[in-house]
Amino acid sequence: MFYINYKNMFLKGNKIGVNVSELVTYLLCPRKLYYTCRGHEPYSDISIAYIEHLLLKELGMNLPELLQNCSSKDDATIPYLEATLSQASEELPLIYSSELEGVDPTIISEAVAQISSYISAMRNNLRSFSLDKNNTSLLSQLKEADLPSVYHSEKLSLSGIPHLVLNQDGVKMPIIIKTGKYPEIGVWSNDRLHLAALSMLMGETHSNHVSSGIVFYAIHAEIRLISIRSNDRRQVLKILGRIKKVKEGSLPDKKTGPLCHNCAYSTSCNVKTSLASKFF
Ligand code: SF4
Repeated sequence: MFYINYKNMFLKGNKIGVNVSELVTYLLCPRKLYYTCRGHEPYSDISIAYIEHLLLKELGMNLPELLQNCSSKDDATIPYLEATLSQASEELPLIYSSELEGVDPTIISEAVAQISSYISAMRNNLRSFSLDKNNTSLLSQLKEADLPSVYHSEKLSLSGIPHLVLNQDGVKMPIIIKTGKYPEIGVWSNDRLHLAALSMLMGETHSNHVSSGIVFYAIHAEIRLISIRSNDRRQVLKILGRIKKVKEGSLPDKKTGPLCHNCAYSTSCNVKTSLASKFF
């Protein structure tokens, strides 16, 4: 019998609420969400890549300060990036205290060394963004970007929190930080839907229309501003309906792909698949 994680599920008969983070998991793999909601314990294997992801996220959270430093006359981007990375590596075990309990410090050092090799590309991208005259007004808004509060919409049965919030002429717009590779132009479709869900949530909360959002690809400090289209919102609504079904207990198909190699749920997923193939 599976343990149902009731934190992720409202009592039977009540509305099923969804968190934007669940939408992000669903976009990666619907079955992964199924296991997450049911409290299947993932195996814990703290890799250098995972620490790199956490450190890049911490660097991304400093985007306003990074832009303040790189747009000053005496460009202090590189020393600032180095200092922020060093501080993040010290704070990481405090921020992720239970997750990183007992983690080998050499794994953190190796991740820091890897990120240090991106610093020059980060600096160049931040510098060219801040020197581009077309970005003048966006740049000053980004420098003022703030930490958000949790958003909740009864109408959408949706909750969530962007990484940062930008105030654009009185309208709050979401900023999300991604730590993986980025496309040549625009943003990945999953990132577009992540932003669309947050923009709908923020629009509902503030009773206004949030028409755009920003993805910060921290690995090379790439800032991508996108418009949210009606088709994105339509897709989000469809996906929210599917997520509710998964949370009600429907097991989605296995989405075999590169993600399966490092998937924390691969054991449960493979057992489930072999059992299914035995019976049918
Ligand atoms: S092993 Fe693959 S299909 Fe199964 S949950 Fe993980 S990513 Fe999804």
